[in-house]
Amino acid sequence: MKKFLLKTFLAFSLIFIFLFSMTMVLENKNKKALQSKVKVECEIRDGEIIIPQTPDKVAANYEFTKLYFYSGIVLSLILPILFYIYGGIGLIKRWNFRFKIVEGGILFIVYYLFNMILMFPKSLFSSFYRGRLVGLSNLGFLDFLKDYIVSDSIDLLISLPIVAIIYVIFLKRKSWYFLSAVILISVSLIGNYIYPYFDEAQNDLVPMEEGELKSKIIDLSKEAGIENLDIKVIPKSGETNSMNAYMTGINNSRRIVFWDTTLNGLSEKEVLSVAAHEMGHYKLNHIQKSTIISSLLTLMTLMLVHNLMRRFSTKDYRKIEKVPYILFILNVIGLLFSPIETAYSRKMEVEADTFAMEITNDGYTNGALEIKFIESNLTPVDVDPVIKWLAYDHPTCRERIELSNEFIKKKCE
Ligand SMILES: [Zn+2]
Repeated sequence: MKKFLLKTFLAFSLIFIFLFSMTMVLENKNKKALQSKVKVECEIRDGEIIIPQTPDKVAANYEFTKLYFYSGIVLSLILPILFYIYGGIGLIKRWNFRFKIVEGGILFIVYYLFNMILMFPKSLFSSFYRGRLVGLSNLGFLDFLKDYIVSDSIDLLISLPIVAIIYVIFLKRKSWYFLSAVILISVSLIGNYIYPYFDEAQNDLVPMEEGELKSKIIDLSKEAGIENLDIKVIPKSGETNSMNAYMTGINNSRRIVFWDTTLNGLSEKEVLSVAAHEMGHYKLNHIQKSTIISSLLTLMTLMLVHNLMRRFSTKDYRKIEKVPYILFILNVIGLLFSPIETAYSRKMEVEADTFAMEITNDGYTNGALEIKFIESNLTPVDVDPVIKWLAYDHPTCRERIELSNEFIKKKCE
């Protein structure tokens, strides 16, 4: 136990020192850019929105994004290996649990905490330090720490029984991959339904204030063919200046949620455009569609793990010693499959943008919003293809402005 903790602490220190030094290097290199103000005007020439240049501060912020993004990938790949080398599995075996379900549960808790500790420096520098440096976050250190611990602990508690059951199935059943996929898919279906209520309780969501703006959104939703649209607001202005809105839930639990920063920072026309985009997700059943895609990917992933383990490990691989290998393979497959998921998500975003422009009959606001987000969220105009394919579930700023321009052009013809 002592050795395992000591090695974990050493790894933590190395990761911390690496990310600290790299963050300082980037901060120094971009000192001037970080102090600059981001001001982007929406320029229209010959009826087209001009794609703006990336402001210096946005470009600097993007350099930080790349650093933390690639570090995160490397970490997620090496953590299962480190866990094995540091004796995490030996530790669990020495404890000699009578019931496999307890063994699975404890293994999960220990591995989860191991992950949480070694991923902490990345979160600290990415969300907290960089967030404050570029002015995207106003969160104090203690609040950041509380959020990190609370949200991870909730995840841990919710996943614990599911993982423990899957662990027992893995040990006892040859067709564990199929049964586990069925469990995971069922959990995600139930999760889709109850997540909005959970979100509401955890993030203090309130119903949108009655008034002219809300009536206009409701009128628009009726035009879009949505009855009884539920609109909620999430208080975010205390911690960030970024803007966001999203649609969650299925059937009765469906609703649109606005960050209050979005309602405070945008004009009426712009809020309506954002609302129309979310209605697009609602009306086009995007949550259901992405659930189908991710369910298929879950099943394929587990079948692949089974086949790879049988071929490259031993036929009899269903043992605790092999769990780190499986976690490693899971992370590699997750990485390889992410381009499929992000491409599908980007396709749905294009559909939602098109839906929004059609029902508001307004392509300019859709494009102009992207320019606002460069200022409020420091969204880069373009991103590297690797980042786009692995992590971008929305089209880039350039692509969304181009889409708006296409709509404007089509309307003029
Ligand atoms: Zn969207």
